[in-house]
Amino acid sequence: MEAGLPPLPATAKCIRCHGRATIRMPNHNALFCADCFVHFFHTGVTRAMAKFGVSPDEPLMVAVSGGKDSLAVWNALHETGYATRGLHVRLGIDEFSDASSEAVRRFAEDRRLPWAEYSLEEIFGYSVDAIRWRTRRKICSVCGLLKRQMLNRLTVREGYRTLVVGHNLDDEAGRLLGNMVRHRTQFFEKQYPFLPSSHPRLPSKLKPLYRLDAREIRAYCRVKGILPLEAKCPHSRGATSHAYKEALEMLETRMPGTKRDFLFSYVDRRKPPVLSADIGTCKSCGEPAFGDLCSVCKLSDHLKKQQDELETP
Ligand code: AMP
Ligand code: ZN
Repeated sequence: MEAGLPPLPATAKCIRCHGRATIRMPNHNALFCADCFVHFFHTGVTRAMAKFGVSPDEPLMVAVSGGKDSLAVWNALHETGYATRGLHVRLGIDEFSDASSEAVRRFAEDRRLPWAEYSLEEIFGYSVDAIRWRTRRKICSVCGLLKRQMLNRLTVREGYRTLVVGHNLDDEAGRLLGNMVRHRTQFFEKQYPFLPSSHPRLPSKLKPLYRLDAREIRAYCRVKGILPLEAKCPHSRGATSHAYKEALEMLETRMPGTKRDFLFSYVDRRKPPVLSADIGTCKSCGEPAFGDLCSVCKLSDHLKKQQDELETP
């Protein structure tokens, strides 16, 4: 049963097959039985993939955090016939990372899906918790940067060209609102659920869940017996992105459909962005970079300097 709502009466009918409905979709003014809901959900994902022009033969690397979104997108792509491999980066955030890794392992083993796990400490030299004590920068933005960069690099290193991430309708609509409110026009171009590769060492990036919201994703996990990690990252409390999502949720309650209209009227009118191809190469590590050094090498230099200062008597 959905939180806060009374159970559906036995006479409630699924709008697709007219069988007994068990799932309520107020945003679509619809009721579904479990099978028709799964059909609705998979159609949302396959439509997004068709819109991105991704061939069903393209092998996909799926970035999995252990949360509901990435496990749901992995499941949906697998069940709709895509060849997938999961990729988890163990960030080193105390017990949260143990629980994230465990949620991915349990999901993948139950379904016999291939996956790989890398530790940030091993591939970068520092865990997120170690970085926290060595920088004054906001840890969420540093962690976000490292996650993006490591996921790109590991995807290419594992021989894949396409990376899937779990961002959903609420994430994308919240980000769009944030960019609009702050008038960050430089980010408008990249606000698209499909970013083609702009460098041989950068995978293209897909967000197949951009048409499905958190509520639908939770219902999908329930129907499919997916057990995501429910805990939130201990560092993410008070993130400004939450405020934009809450603002949209308020509008959605008063005017159902607002969130979808807001995002789709923006995305559906646009073509995939053409990203600048003038990316150079990092002098230190050979990865794509906009200046002499890539953002990962700059961060690593900064952390080493801090450490030297601390260790100098
Ligand atoms: P977040 O930025 O935590 O909201 O995560 C957005 C998406 O990034 C998730 O849906 C995953 O696809 C991916 N992701 C986040 N954290 C990890 C991780 N530790 N390992 C692999 N992928 C991740
Ligand atoms: Zn570099």
